Amino acid sequence: MSLSFQVEKVSGKARAGRLFTPHGEVETPVFMPVGTLASVKGVSQDTLEELGAQIILANTYHLYLRPGIGTIRRMGGLHDFMAWPRAILTDSGGFQVFSLNELRKITEEGVTFRSHLDGSTHFFSPESAIEAQIGLGADIIMAFDECTEYPADRDRMRASMGLTLRWAKRCKQYFEEHKQEVPWRSYGHVDTAALSSRGECQLAGDAPELRSTWTGASPVPTQTEQIQSLFGIVQGGMDHELRKESAERTIEIGFSGYAIGGLSVGEPRTLTREIVESTLEHLPADKPRYLMGVGTPEEIAEYARLGVDMMDCVLPTRAARHGLLFTSEGKISIKQARYAQDQGPLDPNCACRVCRRYSRAYVRHLYAANEVLAQVLNTVHNLSFYLDTMRRVRHSI
Ligand SMILES: [Zn+2]
Repeated sequence: MSLSFQVEKVSGKARAGRLFTPHGEVETPVFMPVGTLASVKGVSQDTLEELGAQIILANTYHLYLRPGIGTIRRMGGLHDFMAWPRAILTDSGGFQVFSLNELRKITEEGVTFRSHLDGSTHFFSPESAIEAQIGLGADIIMAFDECTEYPADRDRMRASMGLTLRWAKRCKQYFEEHKQEVPWRSYGHVDTAALSSRGECQLAGDAPELRSTWTGASPVPTQTEQIQSLFGIVQGGMDHELRKESAERTIEIGFSGYAIGGLSVGEPRTLTREIVESTLEHLPADKPRYLMGVGTPEEIAEYARLGVDMMDCVLPTRAARHGLLFTSEGKISIKQARYAQDQGPLDPNCACRVCRRYSRAYVRHLYAANEVLAQVLNTVHNLSFYLDTMRRVRHSI
């Protein structure tokens, strides 16, 4: 069993369900915090657990360049490497390579690109992108696709969609032939809650006890075959017919879930919504649907109501590092002088650990003084706000 998905409730087009991954259950619709370099910037793994993040995303392109797939594979895969016992999804690297613009060249075989770090030349093919993702060992991995640029004419959108479909077939074939190579190891599972209640975590001062809450990532049962799941990606630019064709032909190849890619590439938001809505109609009801790289809290709630099950976005974490907070009263910039003596929490309607403890005045001071803690607190609040938004949508279904 690699992944199973159950739709538990349906309300209009929205669905509430449950994904069962080799590293735990994920309640959907779900927002996935982005941990580009195997780290959700500024937030430790125990905090992510406390916030209720059940699945996070990591980027193959970045991890391939640094620290390298081989290193992570030898560390037992991403879960062990980053001490994250819950589910992980990796992207294929396609979107990041696409974003390199002048630094890449696309052929039928794959994409040659230059590293944004040191300018060195690399090559990703559908096969090597899947090989890299098997090495990383996320629970859900993505087909290597070409993200069609915006704007593009119909011939270009059709050609690009065709390439993504041919690549999808190659990804599937490589995955089927190599999926047993995932580097998960089997650990003895230790119940840390039981340990601390017995006082065995009180051995302060012993250096090894610093790792007492981390006993290995793998709740992976050894008796059953546990493998990763591969998702296909629907492209087709901003053309409804091409999106339909891409969806149908991707489903024909057969994947464990389906993503809608190629959006949020500069098109107006109303167009994003139209394409999402029309593409969803062509995706199977019994498989998870993942909308890649969107959006604001209002947008993710709206997409969930349209029937999207999974979403990710760098917005809450990136905005936090720039002092922008999402709150129940709209977006605020904590830099503003008006908050200098504001004793209220970041968001009066938020019960996150930051809002329970700190004032706007204090966080503004930290931000103005360039204290690292400002970025940490802002990120924790924003992630909490996004995760709560999704929880609310889920409960309303
Ligand atoms: Zn908060």
